[in-house]
Amino acid sequence: SQIPNSLHGQDIANILHPYTNAVRHQEVGPIVIERGEGIRVYDDTGKDYIEAMAGLWSVAVGFSEPRLVEAATRQLNALPYYHTFTHKSNEPSIRLAERLVAMSPARLSKVFFTNSGSEANDTVVKLLWYYNNAMGRPERKKIISRRRAYHGITVASGSLTGLPVNQQDFDLPIAGVRHLTCPHFYREGREGETEEAFAKRLADEFEALVLAEGPETIAGFIGEPLMAAGGVVPPPATYWQKMQAVCRKYGIMLVADEVITGFGRLGRTFGSDYYGIDPDIMVVSKQLTSSYQPLAAVLISDELFEGVAANSARIGMFGHGFTTSGHPVATAVALANLDIIEERGLVANAAAMGEILQKGLASYADHPLVGEVRGAGLIGAIELVSDKAGKTPFDPVGKAGRYLFERGHEHGLIIRAIGDTIAFCPPLIITQSDVADMLARFGRALDDTATYLRAGA
Ligand code: PMP
Repeated sequence: SQIPNSLHGQDIANILHPYTNAVRHQEVGPIVIERGEGIRVYDDTGKDYIEAMAGLWSVAVGFSEPRLVEAATRQLNALPYYHTFTHKSNEPSIRLAERLVAMSPARLSKVFFTNSGSEANDTVVKLLWYYNNAMGRPERKKIISRRRAYHGITVASGSLTGLPVNQQDFDLPIAGVRHLTCPHFYREGREGETEEAFAKRLADEFEALVLAEGPETIAGFIGEPLMAAGGVVPPPATYWQKMQAVCRKYGIMLVADEVITGFGRLGRTFGSDYYGIDPDIMVVSKQLTSSYQPLAAVLISDELFEGVAANSARIGMFGHGFTTSGHPVATAVALANLDIIEERGLVANAAAMGEILQKGLASYADHPLVGEVRGAGLIGAIELVSDKAGKTPFDPVGKAGRYLFERGHEHGLIIRAIGDTIAFCPPLIITQSDVADMLARFGRALDDTATYLRAGA
């Protein structure tokens, strides 16, 4: 319904909104978010919402951080833009690259800047292809990912993604991409199987695929330390150690997509620290700037860089880059954002608040609609099921999640429904009372959903 003096529903003639049912959206129209304050945002009727998703898993420092505004303004005044092509650079991008290398796992020493996580993962694919051509092994081009993974939506990154909705009718994936089983014990574990045996089965599946394809054809394996957008899936404890061993055995480059897990989400600086992953390539974005500016980065090992550099010398250049790669305003904002994360101890806060969040979510485990509660640090999820004992999904899948998501809006809560999995990924600045408020609003939306489903809708 149209609200007087509100833009509600008014932009629908001009914007094709991502991730909507475009026909339904034409009828309902978007909530128009006008301003933000800490972990809360306000729509154009003045209604407040707790942003339990930090926007899109991004806004580490909250929605009203003046230091990021100052950093952007200062840089806009000094030098609003310069590119990083043809032996040019700018000061903030140089400083940020140095800082990222210092923070990241030891083997990573060079940084390539892009504007989005999708572009960064496309860059990963092209770097692996370019590197293997440089090393005289042009057959080594295939990349292995996992079903349910989200790595972006451009042609290459959308191919790494393993969610049907991002591929169906888009003619993806491209050739040379393979997908393994998602490490979700609740859904993929077998009757009587332990988590440890499940982890071993998935590593065996990986090795069998490598052998079937031919190890000499596999360039890389990509995974998020904790699969986030695909449904918040913490892997079994020994999963990464086992998957990493297969990569090492066959010389497969290990790519950690830290777009969501990077900069404190799991209560450690990187998800790779949390799970003991030693990647050859790491991709970061989102919390890097708290999404105040679009920015992503690909961090690569010396080994990879040396191959790429030698080939660029042979050809004459490394022919890949974006107009705004290393944008000075975006990199200046990232530097200020990383200062804030460090000075305010937000990684430690994520660990402490994460514990409270996980306990709070776990208190719903006995609810008849709740199939599984899962998460780590300051990211968590509750999967709704129609039958708890049988782990039976709703028919259609997403019916309960969608309803709860919309009741959340009514109760002033922005969550995400991934099918019937409800995700929580609040800003890292969240406090104990905010966690309680967030879970109370969720509880009300869950009660409404239970009533609705009991009514046989
Ligand atoms: N990788 C992961 C793990 C992501 O979650 C996302 C975005 N949700 C991307 C890549 C793509 O990032 P972008 O939307 O900036 O292209």
